[in-house]
Amino acid sequence: MLHIKSLSATINNKEILSNIDLHIKTGEVHVIMGPNGAGKSTLANVIMGHRSYKVTQGDIIFEGEDIQELSVTQRARKGIFLSFQNPLEVLGVPLRSFLRTAKNTIDNTNLSVVKFERELKAQASKLNIDDQYLDRYLNYGFSGGEKKKSEILQMLVINPKLAILDETDSGLDIDAIKTVALGINLFKTANRSIVIITHNTAFLNRLKLDYVHILKSGTILKSGKEEIIEELSKYGFKNYE
Ligand code: ADP
Ligand code: MG
Repeated sequence: MLHIKSLSATINNKEILSNIDLHIKTGEVHVIMGPNGAGKSTLANVIMGHRSYKVTQGDIIFEGEDIQELSVTQRARKGIFLSFQNPLEVLGVPLRSFLRTAKNTIDNTNLSVVKFERELKAQASKLNIDDQYLDRYLNYGFSGGEKKKSEILQMLVINPKLAILDETDSGLDIDAIKTVALGINLFKTANRSIVIITHNTAFLNRLKLDYVHILKSGTILKSGKEEIIEELSKYGFKNYE
């Protein structure tokens, strides 16, 4: 589904990512772990196509197509979704209107309110999100847990092919972690792929993972199976050079 080859990227002429190789097949769940400032969010943003980052080398191939010339919206329409580490607060735009606009923009359609509401309610109830919550302004005054739940709801409503979750679990209490993990497990099917960026190993225990990558100083230093998480808990990131 996603094939990244020898990717390097800069911001303000400073190299943040160097020579990244990552191959994510359809149906796989990959985890990226790494110390603060390693370049994890940068990698997520580069895949999504944020303009502030400059790719200086390498390829980003999504479903066989080089997507580097595509805008963020075009990439979203191809089926790539990124949930933010720090979701934006938008006063005046209720969550439900935001989700409907996002869904219609990405699907390039104009779903009727009735049809959209049916879909929204079905997804919200899976996450135990009640209807009143959907009338609140987007992320405005949401607790950390509520913001992350709204990101997960957005993922379920938009239903992308590849979801990248950037620390969607950080700062959450145990109930919110359960909900986020539940959302990910609901989303995961044979034809969906997921990239999870996280520090939270308790959260990862709730998920079935295929590969774990250690990103440090902009480079992937190790890739492997779930054992890496145990190794990491024991020795920390300093073990990887
Ligand atoms: P992580 O998500 O792994 O914590 P980031 O991708 O956010 O790391 O950041 C990687 C590096 O890029 C850090 O050293 C950070 O300071 C730098 N960086 C990120 N955004 C900018 C920016 N807008 N301008 C300058 N440096 C940045
Ligand atoms: Mg980050």
